[in-house]
Amino acid sequence: MKIVPSPQKLQRLLEGERGRRKTIGFVPTMGALHEGHLSLVRASRRLNDITVASIFVNPLQFGPREDYQQYPRPFAADKRLLLKEKIDYLFFPSVRDLYPPGNRIRVCVDPKLSRILCGKYRPGHFDGVATVVAKLLNIVGTCRLYLGSKDYQQAAVLKCLVKDMNFNVQVCVMPTVREGDGLAMSSRNRYLSLEERQRAAALFRVLFELKRQILERKGSLSFLKRQALGKLRAAVDQVQYLEVVDPQTLAPISQIQSKMIALTACFVGKTRLIDNVIITAS
Ligand code: AMP
Repeated sequence: MKIVPSPQKLQRLLEGERGRRKTIGFVPTMGALHEGHLSLVRASRRLNDITVASIFVNPLQFGPREDYQQYPRPFAADKRLLLKEKIDYLFFPSVRDLYPPGNRIRVCVDPKLSRILCGKYRPGHFDGVATVVAKLLNIVGTCRLYLGSKDYQQAAVLKCLVKDMNFNVQVCVMPTVREGDGLAMSSRNRYLSLEERQRAAALFRVLFELKRQILERKGSLSFLKRQALGKLRAAVDQVQYLEVVDPQTLAPISQIQSKMIALTACFVGKTRLIDNVIITAS
């Protein structure tokens, strides 16, 4: 595994790989790696000759009152995990490498996509994500891009980025990896106290119950949503949203339809957690 901090150097190395007819899989992360990240790495290794992962905590996607400074950065442990997975390149730039002084260009996502759901509570977040991923894709070049469906809205924004900006990239969205009690794995789970960790399982439990009740047509969508919201509120400290939306457009739906997705964002203590489940009605 070659650790490359320089964008120009990685660009040159990967152009060389493509010249040798190698296919490239790319897994962008912010580090503090867990089995969710590693599932993306393994998916990439299965299908591509070369796997590139990146670790970069992107300041542009954090709000002023968010956890940019505290975000975990256990680089030595991350490096060990990636070595074990036998990836080929680890891109590990500094903030200065990616945003040199004088940089002035940002990607702006349509508010219809970036100001709903998580974006309503994290203004500027998806512009920050789209900006860094556009830069990363220009550095990595033609590749398969591996994303987790845990960050469903992020994957929707990035699919749109690839399409609208004509990146020669195939987006592969992989299933959410969960702990034994259903909690979606997340780098932020390590902020949780033991007591908070137990309550955090409510996100998955309530979403999963909502899914079951929708499939069994236990009431109208608005009734079932209200019931789920009550259960969630009883377990967590704050519910930012609990929504059932169309999986393509992310527009809210009022009637049960064939494909839906239920999503939530909650605070447990000071930790913000998100989760979602896909619902396919027959
Ligand atoms: P992050 O380091 O949080 O920016 O995440 C990097 C990538 O890993 C994103 O595409 C996430 O959607 C994905 N990811 C994070 N958690 C999980 C999980 N539990 N299961 C699958 N993918 C995940």
